[in-house]
Amino acid sequence: MEKQTIKDILEGYKKYLHHDITVQGWVRAFRSNRFIALNDGSSILNLQVVVDFEKFDEEILKHIKTASSLRITGEVVESQGAGQSVEIIARKIQILGENFADELEKTVLQPKKHSLEVLRDQAHLRFRTNLFGAVFRVRSKVSFAIHQFFNQNQFYYINTPVITGADAEGAGEMFQVTNFDLNHIPHTEDGAIDYEQDFFGRKTNLTVSGQLEAETAAMGLGRVYTFGPTFRAENSNTTRHLAEFWMVEPEVAFNNLEDNIDLAENFLKYVIGYVLENCKDDLAFLDKRFAEEQKTKPERERAKEGLIEKLENVIKKRFMRVSYSEALEILMNSKENKKGKFQFPIEGWGTDLQSEHERYLVEKHFESPVVLFDYPKEIKAFYMRLNEDQKTVAAMDVLFPGIGEIIGGSQREERLEVLQQKMQEMHVDERELWWYMDTRKFGSVPHAGFGLGLERLILFVTGMTNIRDVIPFPRTPKNAEF
Ligand code: ATP
Ligand code: MG
Repeated sequence: MEKQTIKDILEGYKKYLHHDITVQGWVRAFRSNRFIALNDGSSILNLQVVVDFEKFDEEILKHIKTASSLRITGEVVESQGAGQSVEIIARKIQILGENFADELEKTVLQPKKHSLEVLRDQAHLRFRTNLFGAVFRVRSKVSFAIHQFFNQNQFYYINTPVITGADAEGAGEMFQVTNFDLNHIPHTEDGAIDYEQDFFGRKTNLTVSGQLEAETAAMGLGRVYTFGPTFRAENSNTTRHLAEFWMVEPEVAFNNLEDNIDLAENFLKYVIGYVLENCKDDLAFLDKRFAEEQKTKPERERAKEGLIEKLENVIKKRFMRVSYSEALEILMNSKENKKGKFQFPIEGWGTDLQSEHERYLVEKHFESPVVLFDYPKEIKAFYMRLNEDQKTVAAMDVLFPGIGEIIGGSQREERLEVLQQKMQEMHVDERELWWYMDTRKFGSVPHAGFGLGLERLILFVTGMTNIRDVIPFPRTPKNAEF
């Protein structure tokens, strides 16, 4: 039997008119013992099923409650009521799963707004709400669009390891991986932990970035990208950081910084355009929610544009491209800085930018996405290419309104000697990265790449504010229950 989803039926109903079809889904509401709003997850829209209660057993009607699951066979007819073009006249109703909700669940299931925090603890119900249904459908479409963009541009998708011996940044924010019995850790004679006896015969951790591995792949395949889970044990409880998040990392041989910025801009615009085109119903819902949320905020904190409007504007305008030095001037001379309104005052050239500074530039000063480039070498990673001024590196960050940094990338240092010098200065052990150094010894070429945090992009396109609400199972400090 061909199974139609509710999306199929609503979109192609003419084809089904006056035919009997079978649908399955969960009850969103049952009004007047007559109208079932049925949802199967395929769309944010519900299908209306009309029940003539005189034709059905008490026993069955009794179990049609919000959240119970049904299989219904009936005729597709044009709807008399407002709000939908089509409905089903039920002939046969089968209860698949009753609703055994306890008191808490009952309140969560009521068709009213729930706190997003409460829903985070109710994994099964979360996926049933309009809001999270929309968010996760959009998330899925975004992932598809990402693969589509790269595939269309002749990139190869490569999978870099989740367990790795390399630390991309030397930042010490890693989760260690071991199969030692933690109560009996073997030690060497001088008292150090004997990693030779550990599973991999060395110290290993969960990856913080696939970049170094992706660089080795780009040196043979030309254009590659990774798209996988990334782990950071950063104890920062912010609305923009997760301990486990998904990162997209293109790496391209023969690209310089400008090519890299162009790639980032085209990529973001493609994905956002794809969502505008392919997630209309969900975006309409999210747009409305966003507007309602703005009303609850004090006037000066309200967004100037609606959600859809914001997305449309982002793909129309060229991103601002501003060097770190120019940005620093702007920040130093800003009223905010002079009046001491920044939590981290701008002290002079070389200051690392905090998210409050990034957001000032994007939201107040430029009112546009901004790409910052050419950062002081001291505040960026060792592999970024040293510029001719010897003071800055060819780094770039893409900053988005409401989010701050969404992409971080750079042209990589392809010159072996310069790289070695940089590593020495920054105390990165060349011997640990011997396999990476090899890429600079056998036909090294200029190349560049960046990392996009998937969840930050989802925050932007859905208008959600907390990163925990755009990933199905958030991992944050003290939180990994399910
Ligand atoms: P931030 O300054 O916001 O911590 P970062 O400089 O540590 O970011 P990168 O190491 O450049 O970030 O990582 C590339 C991208 O990955 C970032 O631009 C961001 O979109 C995303 N990202 C980084 N850390 C996290 C995190 N903990 N949770 C979710 N996304 C993250
Ligand atoms: Mg960070």
